[in-house]
Amino acid sequence: MNTKKVRSISKAGSSHWVGDGFPVQNFFPSTGIDNDINPFLMLDYAGPAHFDPSQKPHGVGEHPHRGFETVTIAYKGSVEHKDSAGNQGTIHPGDVQWMTAGSGVVHEEMHEREFSKKGGEFEMIQLWVNLPKAHKMTSPRYQTLLNSDIPKVNLDQNGSVARIIAGRLNETIGPANTFTPVSLIDLNLAAGSRIELPVETGFNTAFLFVNGSVKIGDASVYDQARLILMDTAGDTIVLEAIKDSSLLLMAGRPINEPVASYGPFVMNTKEEIFQAIQDFQSGKMGRI
Ligand code: MN
Repeated sequence: MNTKKVRSISKAGSSHWVGDGFPVQNFFPSTGIDNDINPFLMLDYAGPAHFDPSQKPHGVGEHPHRGFETVTIAYKGSVEHKDSAGNQGTIHPGDVQWMTAGSGVVHEEMHEREFSKKGGEFEMIQLWVNLPKAHKMTSPRYQTLLNSDIPKVNLDQNGSVARIIAGRLNETIGPANTFTPVSLIDLNLAAGSRIELPVETGFNTAFLFVNGSVKIGDASVYDQARLILMDTAGDTIVLEAIKDSSLLLMAGRPINEPVASYGPFVMNTKEEIFQAIQDFQSGKMGRI
């Protein structure tokens, strides 16, 4: 066993609203760790926030994406999605939407109508996963991963549990289909647990620490959301939960290709970005 070390611990680099529905803390790219977290491009943590009842759902209206995937994990509250290809879906707490924007979609992301009417606690994560050059113009695709379809692994007798969304933990494989090797694992650790987590050597690896109190090696995190970036070397992460704690593990094989990005478009060259803007403006990505 070769224990991975913590490279850095960051607080959010910016806080802002996405539309009027998502009060987010951004953990990258605003913290400047872009290349160390490749193939992941962006991480927004929304909430936890309380929304009062509203007849008109909050959210973010029609906007495009091209060249990567958006992964939305619902923890509290529900989100409705609708897009230019006529797709529509809702995710509830525990569910995940894995959307491949590929060649381009125009979509809106809104609080679910029923949730909006009642109001309540809202907490979500959106993670952007890059696509390799060979698949940037692939057809758009949706994977709705329901909580009931996401396997749970008991980590010990204490009640610590991992939910395998993508990738694997020992023999358990997550349901998400990915274009390059990616692991996405929700961890709920019980106070007093000491977990040895096997991970791939050479993948870029980080945690979003959501809440609780955890020790990783010499480092401690508690109370506030933090991004914990790990060294690429090592094959095991040792976590000690001081309190009941929630973390999201992200790990992926780096995509070593040029990145050109502009807002909702992430391509390999500037020319491809101009093309994306033109295709969106001329309606080639469709309308809702
Ligand atoms: Mn979007």
